[in-house]
Amino acid sequence: MNANPNTPPASFIPPRRLLIVGGVAGGASTAARARRLSEDCEIILFERGPHVSFANCGLPYHVGGEIADKDDLLVQTPLSLKARFNLDVRVNTEVTGIDRAARTVRVRNRVTGEGAVVSYDTLVLATGAAPVRPPIPGIDRANHFLVRNVPDVEQITAWAETSGTGRVVVVGGGYIGLEMAEQLRHRGFAVTLVEALPQVMAPLDPEMAAWLHAELRDQGVALHLNDAVSSFDASTDAEPAGASIVVLKSGLRLPADAVIVGLGVKPEARLALEAGLELGQLGGIRVNDRMQTSDPHIYAVGDVVEVRDGVTGQWALIPLAGPANRQGRIAADGIFGREAHYGGTWGTAVLRLFRLTAACTGANARTLKRVGIPFEVVHLHPGSHAGYYPGAEPIAMKVLFAPGTGKLLGAQAVGRDGVEKRMDVMATALKAGMTVHDLAEMELCYAPPFGSAKDPVNLAGMTAQNVLSGEVKQLQWDEVAGLDPARTFLLDVRSREERGAGFIPGSVHVPVNELRARLGELPRDREIIAYCHSGLRSYIAARLLGQHGFEVRNLSGAWRTWRAATV
Ligand code: FAD
Repeated sequence: MNANPNTPPASFIPPRRLLIVGGVAGGASTAARARRLSEDCEIILFERGPHVSFANCGLPYHVGGEIADKDDLLVQTPLSLKARFNLDVRVNTEVTGIDRAARTVRVRNRVTGEGAVVSYDTLVLATGAAPVRPPIPGIDRANHFLVRNVPDVEQITAWAETSGTGRVVVVGGGYIGLEMAEQLRHRGFAVTLVEALPQVMAPLDPEMAAWLHAELRDQGVALHLNDAVSSFDASTDAEPAGASIVVLKSGLRLPADAVIVGLGVKPEARLALEAGLELGQLGGIRVNDRMQTSDPHIYAVGDVVEVRDGVTGQWALIPLAGPANRQGRIAADGIFGREAHYGGTWGTAVLRLFRLTAACTGANARTLKRVGIPFEVVHLHPGSHAGYYPGAEPIAMKVLFAPGTGKLLGAQAVGRDGVEKRMDVMATALKAGMTVHDLAEMELCYAPPFGSAKDPVNLAGMTAQNVLSGEVKQLQWDEVAGLDPARTFLLDVRSREERGAGFIPGSVHVPVNELRARLGELPRDREIIAYCHSGLRSYIAARLLGQHGFEVRNLSGAWRTWRAATV
C-alpha cells in the first residue's frame, strides 16, 4: 500500500496513451482528472454524438424554455477541452470494437464513414445507458421522441415550435418522464402521463409518490397509473388525423400529437460484452472499487457499470450524474497510480415537479423487504422553517432505520420548500453510517427564515428514538384498512375545524386538549389508535393515554400521510 495516496509508488509506470469511450459525465470527468494528474499522457476522447460534455440533466429545461439557449447546455466543446486540458476530442466517432490482446480499438467516423484502429495503454468505457425501447408495435412512429441528448431535444423543440399546442402523451413516470411532463405543460401542451406501475418515481414508496400524483393532477396532467402501453396505433377515420393513438392494456385509446418515450435506461455494455469483459446479472459492467473491469487495462465508469448499493451491499444499476462524475475521478486516480476507492452508491436524487420537490436517499421499503433487511419507519410532517415566520411549508418525510441499532437505512421527502437540504443531510448521515440518534443530536443551521430550532432532521431522529425506546408504538397508514373495530378504537384528536374537513371513517373525535377530562369515554378493552393532522398531537395523546393505563398506538404520519396515500 502506498503511504501517500496522492503520490504514485516509485515503481509505477504511467500509461502513455489513454483512450476514453464516451465524452459526457463519466468520460469527460475521467479525461479532465487524468490531465490534471499527467501532462505527458496522450488522452483521446471518442464521442459517438456531435457534442461532448453536454448537460443531459438540463435537457428537459431546454424543451420547456427555462434554459432558453441550447448552447448553454454545451458545458464544454472539443475546442475548449483542447485549450484547457489538451484533450484530443473526436466527436461523431464511434468505437465499434475492442481487441484486448492487441490493446486496440476500432473506430468509425459517423459523418465520413472512415474507420481506424487506435492503440491504447489504458482504456476507459464511459458509454452510459441507452433509453429502453421495448418492441411495442408502433413505438418508432413519427413524433415519438426519446430524451437522451441534444439532438433529441432539438427535435422535440422543433416539433413544439411548429405545433404550438397539442396533446402529448409521456410514457413512463420516472425522473425524465416527470420532468418532461412538467416542461411540456409549462409550454401549454395538454399532457397525459402513462405509467405501468401503480406509482410514479419508483425510488419513492407509494405513500410518498402519492403527493406527486396529486400535484400532477392539480397541474392538469392526466395520469394513467397501473396501465401499460400495448401499442401505438395510427389514427383511424374516427380519430384525429395524423396523430398516434396510444393504446393501453386497459383498452383506453389516447390520441397524441407527440409521444415522449421515457421507459428507463439500460447500460450500453455491448462493447464490453463483445470484448469478453465480465458483466453483472443486471447487464452492467462489473468493476472493482477502483473502477477496473475484469481486464486491468480497461476501466469503466458511469451508467454503464453496476455499483454496490450503499445500504444493501448488493449490485445495482443507479444511473445518476453524481456517481458518474465521482467514478471518473476515481478511475483517473487509479490509472495514474493513486489510491482511490469507490464506496458505493446510495441513490441520492431530487426532482422538481411543478410546485413540489421530491428527494430521496438510501433504500426504500420495497428494496429492504426484497432483500430481507428488517426496518422501522417513521413519517412526519415538519415545517420547512419556523411556523411563526411567514411562508413555512410542510415537508412530508419518511425515514427508514434498523430496529435495535437505529442505523439509518433511507429517507424520502416531498414538499414545496427545504426538501433537498434535509435529504442532503440524510445522505451525508447514511454515507457516514450514522444512526437516528445522531440525527437527533445534529447541530444544523437555524434562523427563522431557514429552519427551526429543532430541524426536521432532528425531529425525524427524535421521532425514531421514541419508536426505538418503545416510548410510542406505531401503526402505519396501510394497516388502517385492516383494523378490526372489535379490537381497536380509532381516535381522532384534531380540532373540530380539522374534523369538519374530513376524517378517517370509523374514528371517534376527542380533541387532544379535552382528553384528560374525557378519559371515561375511551375503551380499556380495546387498543386505541390515535391520529391527528401530522402525528405530533397524537404522539402527545399516546403518551398521555399510555400513562393512564390505555393500550395505545400512534398513526405514523397521521391524517396527512393516510389521506395522501389513500385518495
Ligand atoms: P452519458 O452521460 O450518457 O454519456 C455516455 C456517452 O457515451 C454518450 O454521449 C454516448 O453517445 C457515448 N457513447 C456510447 N457508446 C459509444 C461508443 N461506442 N463510441 C463512442 N461514444 C459512445 N442524473 C442526475 O443525477 N440528476 C438529474 O437531474 C438527471 N437528469 C437527467 C435528465 C436527462 C434527460 C437524462 C438523459 C439523464 C439525466 N440524468 C440525471 C442522468 C445522468 O445524465 C447520467 O447518469 C449521466 O450522464 C451518466 O454519465 P455517463 O458518462 O455514464 O453517460
